[in-house]
Amino acid sequence: MANTKYDIAILGTGLGGLVCGYMLSKNGFNVILLEKNAQIGGCLQTFKRFGVKFDTGMHYIGSMLEGQILHRLFNYLNLLPDIKLNRLDEEGYDRLSIGGKQYRYASGYDHFVETLCQDFPNNRRDIEEYVTQLQNIANASPLYNLRKVEDYVFIEADYIKTSINDFIASITKDYNLQNVLAGNLPLYAGVKDKTPTYIHALINNFYIQSAWRIINGSDSIAASLANSIRSFGGTIRTKSEVSEIVCNDTQAIGIRLADGEFIEAKSIISNIHPQSTLKMINSHLIRKAYRVRINDLENTISNFTLYIKFKEKATPYLNYNYYYYKQDDVWKANERKVGDPLQSYLFMHQCARENQQWAESAEMIGYMRFDEVLKWENTTVGRRGDDYLAFKQATAEHYLDVLEESFPGIRSTIEAYETSTPLTYRDYTATQDGSMYGIIRDKNFPTQTLVSQRTKIPNLFLTGQNINSHGILGVTIGAALTCAEFLGLNKIIDEIEK
Ligand SMILES: Cc1cc2nc3c(=O)[nH]c(=O)nc-3n(C[C@H](O)[C@H](O)[C@H](O)COP(=O)(O)OP(=O)(O)OC[C@H]3O[C@@H](n4cnc5c(N)ncnc54)[C@H](O)[C@@H]3O)c2cc1C
Repeated sequence: MANTKYDIAILGTGLGGLVCGYMLSKNGFNVILLEKNAQIGGCLQTFKRFGVKFDTGMHYIGSMLEGQILHRLFNYLNLLPDIKLNRLDEEGYDRLSIGGKQYRYASGYDHFVETLCQDFPNNRRDIEEYVTQLQNIANASPLYNLRKVEDYVFIEADYIKTSINDFIASITKDYNLQNVLAGNLPLYAGVKDKTPTYIHALINNFYIQSAWRIINGSDSIAASLANSIRSFGGTIRTKSEVSEIVCNDTQAIGIRLADGEFIEAKSIISNIHPQSTLKMINSHLIRKAYRVRINDLENTISNFTLYIKFKEKATPYLNYNYYYYKQDDVWKANERKVGDPLQSYLFMHQCARENQQWAESAEMIGYMRFDEVLKWENTTVGRRGDDYLAFKQATAEHYLDVLEESFPGIRSTIEAYETSTPLTYRDYTATQDGSMYGIIRDKNFPTQTLVSQRTKIPNLFLTGQNINSHGILGVTIGAALTCAEFLGLNKIIDEIEK
């Protein structure tokens, strides 16, 4: 290991780091990936409790029918042989309970329209206009359609400068329909009057085309990418926390691990949150103004998750995701204050095999602010104290009370449960305050809140959910943008299209 000079050191093995590792090692770069945890994958990590595997940050994906965007990307990333999928219910892959009324998102544009028209018979034209607009917005992005370009334009400015709620209000005046169309906003932690339209449009367009659960854990994505990287000659090291990006007068020259080891590299890609990345750099190359701009960016909210193991054959498997809002205004979910009772959640059974009849496990995810666990901020995993455990248990019991309102009797089908808080996410992925999706994009400050893959250090680049966008598609496209700095965007598109 000593004295090896790598072409590229990639810091972090979240999806962004792994996809960059794949693209660059496939193209002959000598890469090393450094991961602080024992397990690779970041949000693709899973954990086992009570004999069941639980996902932590990748529950369902979209556009995986042949020819659809993620299928093409997975094909290029050689993921198809290793990833097993289960298609979610085409009659309603997402089901919404809003202010006591039930709605369904059905698969495919026409089916989506027809299904919502059953609840909103007088709004057919609005719903048709909505899906037309989604497709127009998605088609406007060259990279989301793998189109070659001369100058890369992410997406038209209008979609960046308009908020989701204004966009939806421009399509329909019906208050209930507005809320239904925004009903899966936990997928991007949408904030009223802030989150830009393109985020909603790209995500909903992605899932409407087809929605899938990953069978037996999203860690299969990380494992497959890691195997490919190694087969291309790349190196992956776990339990290797990066503590410093070392620079000379003009550029970065390598990285230092927490144990003091120095690893020399010609270029560096950081998959670590930009605010944490900057903390690792003590160089005049990062000017104060850039540091202040990045550090001032606000992060999306975090979450409390309940991981449930069911008793054997006690509850039928639900092949859909269930979004619950106590009130009829879905945007209120993000206005959560410390100690508020649970107002909204996402509930999903996990899929262990095809044609599953009985549920083995489920996850219930609700918003939680970092402030709610602030008093334990200086503690580490497994050593947070009895009052923290009591807080987690009280919160879990409250969650189950709320879940019982929609699924009466569910408590009696549960064998055991585990929980996680914003501190868990902070400590396992090093995202600021356990934020789910990183930096909030704000239509009021469109350029300031879009973080570039380039930094003020010429050979240091960023990747991951904080550049471009989050989620399986946003991060993969973002990784292509980062790798384009080495390979050129059109070459990458050519390779994917081959
Ligand atoms: C609760 C939740 C549910 C989600 N559900 C979905 C979903 O259903 N579908 C979907 O598409 N997306 C989902 N997402 C979003 C998706 O998981 C993320 O956008 C994506 O995985 C983030 O990838 P990333 O590359 O930015 O890195 P991350 O996953 O954040 O990984 C960063 C990596 O860097 C490592 N690291 C940090 N600091 C250091 C250091 N100093 N040294 C070395 N390594 C370090 C971390 O340990 C980690 O492995 C969900 C996210 C959350 C939180």
